[in-house]
This record gives sequence, structure tokens and C-alpha cells, in this order.
Amino acid sequence: MIPIVPASASVPVDSKQLWLKPGQISLPGSPPLSLYVHVPWCVRKCPYCDFNSHAAPGADNHEIPEDLYLDALRADLEQSLPLVWGRPVHTVFIGGGTPSLLSAAGMDRLLSDIRALLPLDADAEITMEANPGTFEAEKFASYRASGINRLSIGIQSFNDRHLQALGRIHGGTEARRAIDIAQASFDNINLDLMYALPGQTLQECQADVETALGYGTTHLSLYHLTLEPNTLFAKFPPALPDDDTAYEMQDWIEARTAAAGYRHYETSAYARPHREARHNLNYWRFGDYLGIGAGAHGKLSFPQRVLRQMRHKHPATYMAQAMAGNAVQEARDVGADELPFEFMLNALRLTDGVPASSFQDYTGLPLHTISKQLAEAEKKGLLEADLTTIRPTELGRRFLNDLQEMFLKD
Ligand code: SF4
Repeated sequence: MIPIVPASASVPVDSKQLWLKPGQISLPGSPPLSLYVHVPWCVRKCPYCDFNSHAAPGADNHEIPEDLYLDALRADLEQSLPLVWGRPVHTVFIGGGTPSLLSAAGMDRLLSDIRALLPLDADAEITMEANPGTFEAEKFASYRASGINRLSIGIQSFNDRHLQALGRIHGGTEARRAIDIAQASFDNINLDLMYALPGQTLQECQADVETALGYGTTHLSLYHLTLEPNTLFAKFPPALPDDDTAYEMQDWIEARTAAAGYRHYETSAYARPHREARHNLNYWRFGDYLGIGAGAHGKLSFPQRVLRQMRHKHPATYMAQAMAGNAVQEARDVGADELPFEFMLNALRLTDGVPASSFQDYTGLPLHTISKQLAEAEKKGLLEADLTTIRPTELGRRFLNDLQEMFLKD
């Protein structure tokens, strides 16, 4: 899961000196800290995908330069330590790409390195993304033994025709097999599914969701397929269901998942009680995260500033630069005028919203900075705000983009 980061940010800074410089804000403390680790390879690139993922370079498209990449991740983490010194890490997310291309021994080494270098909470949530087509029972049992305690599986659909249209490497049978293998070792599993797929009917969407519900996993992420810029689908757009059908799918999904005991707690996320994704919740609440690996983004807070970082994007460049001590390609100090939008962009995705006090705690700005926009959004029926909570209404959740944009700087 890639965090939601606005397209533009402000002044580039020298992150090595950052914590020494005075800033425009005053943070009372540090937000909770998570770690994101990016693995940038997949067996094949999907035509709708705008993540930093590259076809694996090996002859059978399963071989990745694992040892070299793990060396680079360790070097990257070591270089980052001064920025997070002494702060406990509550969650780890190993995402991609397809992290399940890593061998069992490689994953074990990665987790050992993380534990050796960072103070991981004893009950830390440690999630790994995995894609059908890379599942072997023994390897997944070993991932669990190494400390991965949550799996997020990129199923997308169980329908062969739709999987083919999405350019996925697996079919429906393989998707089912992957879940069976996962459930033999893991009890905390998310299934990623997409709807409004090329040529998909409401009934086909319902069949996919019913199949997913049948597994009784702790979490479902149900995404509306969107055509992202710079993807093959953007260049050669497939025929998608019209807006009315997509709304019907969304309404049916909300009712059906609720009846099955899942709570729709974020725009695309549905969880059984107390099984929300803790790592993603930290993003949406504007917590901190250190991001290591090719193209990984990070957000880190200091007493007088909020810093965003991005690592070198291409895997080969990243590996070379990380080993030379320069994993970070870009570091930007987020301006005080951009923090309200950054905070609200994330917080408004949450059905329950956020505590009002967290605005000041995590942006270092007084709540009255956004009182005009809050009042305006309340008047339009998009938001509810009181002394304790800022929360989108049902209308606000439906017109989320409009609501978020109200907090853009003038
Ligand atoms: S498997 Fe996931 S990360 Fe990899 S190319 Fe496909 S959508 Fe992108």
C-alpha cells in the first residue's frame, strides 16, 4: 500500500542537516512511527498499474537480485537511523511490487535486519503483500515463522476473463489456491479486489465479492478501478462500466459487506471488528513513516518541521546510490501552508474521522488555521466537526474529492 501523498510539495532541503534548522511550526511531540519497505519487482507489469514496479529481470521472470537488494535496504536503513533515533516502530509494511518474490531466507534476513536496527514493538503488525502466482506452501509457512503476521493478497478478481483483461499472471483457480495456502499459516489476511472492471456486470462484481466473503478473512480492500496517467490502460483505455453501474456496485458492496460483519472504515477498506489495518490507519491519521527501498516515500516529523522523502526510483540506481550512502533522491520540507491539506487529504478518508486535537499534534498548527474551511464544509453537509472530532458525513464521503479540495491552500 502506497501512502497518499499530494503531487506537489515545497522547498527541497538537505535532510542530513534538517533537524538542526528552525522551522515554521511547533509540534508538541512525535506521531506514531511505521516502517514501509518497497520491493520493486513483479513477474510482469500489469497494464493498469502506476506503482513503482518493474518486470523481474531473470530469465524466467522470477529472478531478482535478492542479496544485492537486501544489502541496499540494510544500508538505506542504517543511513536513516539518525532521523528516527530511539522512536519505537509500531507497524511494518513490506509492499511492492511483489514482495513474495523474495525467498524465505531473504525475507528472514530482511526481518532480522529490521529487528536489529529498529526498536520494533513486541506486538508490531508486520504485513507483507503477496500476489497469486508466487505462492508456495513451504515458503509462506516460513514467512510466518520469520515474523510476518499479516498478509495482503492481490486477488483483484476470481473471474478468468477479467483477470486476463487486467493482464494479471494468475487465473481464478490460482487466486483460490493462494488464499488456501495463506490460510494454512496466517489468521490475519487482507484480500485486495477491484470492481468496475472492463466489461464487468453487477452480477459478476457480486460473484467476486461473494467468493471473497466466503473465505471469512479479517479484511477486504475493494477498489474502484481507475485509469491512472502513464499506464497502458490510460493510453489504450478499455471499455468500463458506466458511472451508474459503478455506483450500484459500490452501494451493493457496502450493504453486503456490512451484513457479513465488515465495517467500512475507510474509502476502500472493510474490516472485521478490531482488524483494521494498523499500518494504513497510521498513514490516514497523518502518522510518521520511514520508507526504504526503491522509490519509497517517507514522512517524518521533527519539533519544527515535517519532512517528506523519496528514494531513487529505478531499482538499479537505488541499489547503487544506497550502497554509496545516498539512497534519498529528494527531501522536502512541507510548508506550513500545505500541511492542512496534507492532513485533511488523509483524515477525511476515515469514516470515523480523527480526533480534532490530532490536527495540532501532527501538523504543529492551531486548529483555527482551518476553522473557515471546516465551517464551510459543515454548512454544505459534507463534514461534522466539534471540539473532539473531525468527521466526514455520508455525503462528504461520496464527494470526497470536493471535500478534500476545500482544504487546498488559496
Ligand atoms: S502485481 Fe501489483 S504491483 Fe505488480 S504490476 Fe501488477 S498491480 Fe502493479
